[in-house]
Amino acid sequence: MNSEEILKKIEQALNKAKVEFNEKINEKNLDEIYKNYLGKNSLLNNILRGISDYEPEIRKNVGLSVNAAKSQIEEIYKNLKEQLKADNNPAGSSLRIDMSLPGVKIEPFHTHPITAVLNDTVDFFSSMGFEVVEGPEIETTHYNFDALNIPDNHPARDIWDTFYLKNGFIPRTHTSSVQVRTMETRKPPLRVIAPGRCYRYESVDATHLFMFNQVEGLFIDKNARLSDLKGILEATVKHLLGAKKTRFRPAFYPFVEPGLDLDIECVFCHGKGCSVCKSSGWIEVIPCGMVHPKVFEYAGINPAEYKGFAFGMGFDRLVMLKYNVNDLRLLYSGNMDVLNQF
Ligand SMILES: [Zn+2]
Repeated sequence: MNSEEILKKIEQALNKAKVEFNEKINEKNLDEIYKNYLGKNSLLNNILRGISDYEPEIRKNVGLSVNAAKSQIEEIYKNLKEQLKADNNPAGSSLRIDMSLPGVKIEPFHTHPITAVLNDTVDFFSSMGFEVVEGPEIETTHYNFDALNIPDNHPARDIWDTFYLKNGFIPRTHTSSVQVRTMETRKPPLRVIAPGRCYRYESVDATHLFMFNQVEGLFIDKNARLSDLKGILEATVKHLLGAKKTRFRPAFYPFVEPGLDLDIECVFCHGKGCSVCKSSGWIEVIPCGMVHPKVFEYAGINPAEYKGFAFGMGFDRLVMLKYNVNDLRLLYSGNMDVLNQF
């Protein structure tokens, strides 16, 4: 045989093997085809065995062709074998469905308790004509402090444990910064709430995280009075927490005058005194007050013409009180065992 004849034979063998592999196969005839083409006495191996009989110049070509054909057949065989294996194993095949297997239970989703109470709060304030506004979480000290009547080096800044960024900005310590931004860009009368995240340098424990949610509120009108503040906030804690007994206490915040704290009767001991309320029977829920004239002036509003009140609810705390959660960290854990209880 000359070289052309041998090469032609190798090609024929390869094509024939391909055709046979393509026909309907099962594991048994798959192995048979393999044996026929790559077995000890197969044509290809016989050619290889007798390769020394050929002229040296055609040996190389014949060797290469045989090996190329062999590795092609080898690969086709391997792929088909794997496919057969997968077809026989239901888990390995997308086509085989075992109708007797129990189905996967689809859990109905629900909103996170913080989101749920936040949505409720927004709805409640919307019903009283309040609009939702937003501000940046990374603030300037101007909006976070100065414009709220807390000048640099004022001892009141110590109340807010602040993170300072290298570029001079700060993660806002309260949503009160949004008050100033709103007053600068809108004309009174104003009724707005600003929910959002705030950041303080706190050591983490059951009631403190370095990040927390606050809902800021601002009400400005020509005739706004302290009684408006009282009425609206009492209605708020009644709606959100079902609070029956409330009280206002005087408090100091640089951006309000007078400043107040709204307390509700302790939801855990109903006023008898417990460790949560530190035996007082009351829990502080909403710091608030009438907007300080200086804050109006910073924002370009005439304090002789307009009055207003503001409040900042520590929102996570309200959620804890509403659902009797004793550790704030649970609300942020993402633990489904916890979240499924709501
Ligand atoms: Zn108590």
